[in-house]
Amino acid sequence: MTSGWMSQKKFFFNSNDGIINFMKTKIRKVDKNQIDDDIINEAGNLLREGRLVAFPTETVYGLGADALQEEAAKRTYEAKGRPSDNPLIVHIADYEDLKKIAVNIPAETDMLAAHFWPGPLTMIFEKSDAVPHGTTGGLDTVAVRMPEDPVALALIRAAGGFVSAPSANTSGRPSPTTAEHVVADLDGRIDMILDGGAVDIGLESTILDMTVAPPVILRPGAITAEMLEDVIGPVTADDNSMSEKSARAPKAPGMKYRHYAPKAKLVIVEGDLREEILAIRQLAFEADRKGRPVGIIATSETLAFYKYGIVKNIGTRENERSVARGLYKILREFDEEDIDTIYSESFAAQGIGKAIMNRLEKAAGHHRIPAADIVKLQKYRQITFVSGTDSARGPMAAELLRHCDLVQEYVINSSGMVVLFPEPANQKAEAIMKSAGMTLKDHSSHPFDGENIREDTLILTIEESQKEKILSEYGHSDSIFTLNEFTGDDTEIPDPYGKPLTAYGECYEVLNRLINELAEKLNSLTEEEK
Ligand code: AMP
Ligand code: MG
Repeated sequence: MTSGWMSQKKFFFNSNDGIINFMKTKIRKVDKNQIDDDIINEAGNLLREGRLVAFPTETVYGLGADALQEEAAKRTYEAKGRPSDNPLIVHIADYEDLKKIAVNIPAETDMLAAHFWPGPLTMIFEKSDAVPHGTTGGLDTVAVRMPEDPVALALIRAAGGFVSAPSANTSGRPSPTTAEHVVADLDGRIDMILDGGAVDIGLESTILDMTVAPPVILRPGAITAEMLEDVIGPVTADDNSMSEKSARAPKAPGMKYRHYAPKAKLVIVEGDLREEILAIRQLAFEADRKGRPVGIIATSETLAFYKYGIVKNIGTRENERSVARGLYKILREFDEEDIDTIYSESFAAQGIGKAIMNRLEKAAGHHRIPAADIVKLQKYRQITFVSGTDSARGPMAAELLRHCDLVQEYVINSSGMVVLFPEPANQKAEAIMKSAGMTLKDHSSHPFDGENIREDTLILTIEESQKEKILSEYGHSDSIFTLNEFTGDDTEIPDPYGKPLTAYGECYEVLNRLINELAEKLNSLTEEEK
C-alpha cells in the first residue's frame, strides 16, 4: 500500500531559481492498541525539530507542528496553503499543561475538561506569552483541545506537550478522515504521516469560546450545546460567525473561508424527506436527459429511490454518527467523478446533525433549494392507461409514452377493467410494437382497482365506457379523462381485437399520434407551473 502512495510523489518548483524542492514523506502505520514507541519517538523528534507530522485524532487527521515554535506554524500554513490569519488549535495531552499556554482560565473549565477531555471539544482562552502569534493567527487568544486518540496523545507527549494541528488537508478541501486522504493532499509537502486507519467521528471538534460569559459555540461538533449546558448551564451559539456574509471580523476567523468544498457545485435540497427524494429524482432526471448526470448524496434508507445520477450512500439515518463519519469521504469520492453538480438530502439539525448540516452548508457555499419548489411543479407523477383487457391498446399507449422525451419523470403503467388473471400482451400488438423498435415482452395484464385513484395519478382511458365505469364504481375524480379528451384530439382509437395484423398497425398509428400530443401537453403542463 505504502509503495502505491509513494509513486504519486509531487515535485515543487521554486519559481525564483528553478530548483526542485522535493520532500520525501515517510508513511508509518500505527496501531492504537499496540503503540510502537520507536515510531512515536521518531515522529516526536521531527516535531521538536520544527517539522510537520500528520496524525490521527478521533475527529479528523491533524497536521501536527510544535505549537511553541513560530517557524513551525509558518510551515504548517505553507503546507496547507492556508491563510495565515486562520488560527491553529493547540493539542495537549495533560490537563496541567493548559496553564502553561493559557491565562485567566475561567472556573467552568475544570468541569468541562472533566466531562469532555480527552475528547472532541476545543476551548478558547487568553493566551500566555509562551504561545507565538504565528500559531494563533495573530490573535491574543489560543484554542486548546485534548484529543482522545491514544496515538495522538502519545505523539503530543513525545513532541514536548504542545502540538498545533489544523486538519491535514489542503486548505478548502474536505477534511481528511483516513491517511489516504492526507496522502492525496500533502504527500511531498510534509515530513511524516502516521496512519492509524479511519477516524471515529469524522467532523472537526466543537469550538467553545471561554473568553466571554456565557461561553459561545463558534463551531458545532460532536459535543452539542445540550451536552455543554448539562455541565455548565447556558451557552450561546454564534451563528453569525458561521456566515460568509458577516460584516464584522468573525470570532473564529477560519469560519469566513469556504471550507470542505468538493470540486462540483453542491446543492442541499430541503424539505420533508419524501419531498426531498421526489425533488432530487426530478433534478437527476432532468440532468440525465441533458446528458449531464449529477451526483446524489443519499442514505441507506433512500438509496433505492434514485434511478438516475451517480448515487452514493453517506450513512444510515438510524445512526447520524455514521452520516458524520461518511461526509468528507463521500465529498472526496465525488471529486473522482465527472460531474458538475451534487444534490444532497438534508438532515435534522439536532444533536450531531447540527454539525453535519453546518459542514454540509459550508461545503455547499450555502447553496440550497426548497424541495417543495420542485415538487409543486409536478401536477402528476404517475400516468395509468386504462383499457378493457389491458393486453393491447393500454400497454401500447404506455410503452409509446415511455419512449417520448418528457421533461418530468413519471411512473407509467396500464391496467384493464376486465382482467381476471395476469396475461402477457397480445401477440399481434407485440409484433407491431417490435417493428417500431419497442416491445411489450415484460408486460403482464393488471386489473384496475381503486388504488390507482390518487391526486398525483393521471388516469387516461382508451374508451368513454371505461371512464364512465370507473366514475360510477369509484365516484368523482378530477384526474380521469379519456385519452381523446385529455389531448383534445377526437380521432377514434380503433379496437383491433380479433382482426388481422393490419388492424393493429392502424391502431398503432392513431395511438402514436395521440401519445405524441399527450407528451407535448404533459411537458407544457410542467413548464406552465414554472
Ligand atoms: P482547524 O484546525 O482546521 O480545525 O481549524 C481551526 C479553527 O479553530 C480555526 O479555523 C478557527 O476558526 C478556530 N480557532 C482557533 N484558534 C482560535 C482562536 N484563538 N480564536 C477563535 N477561533 C479560533
Ligand atoms: Mg480544517
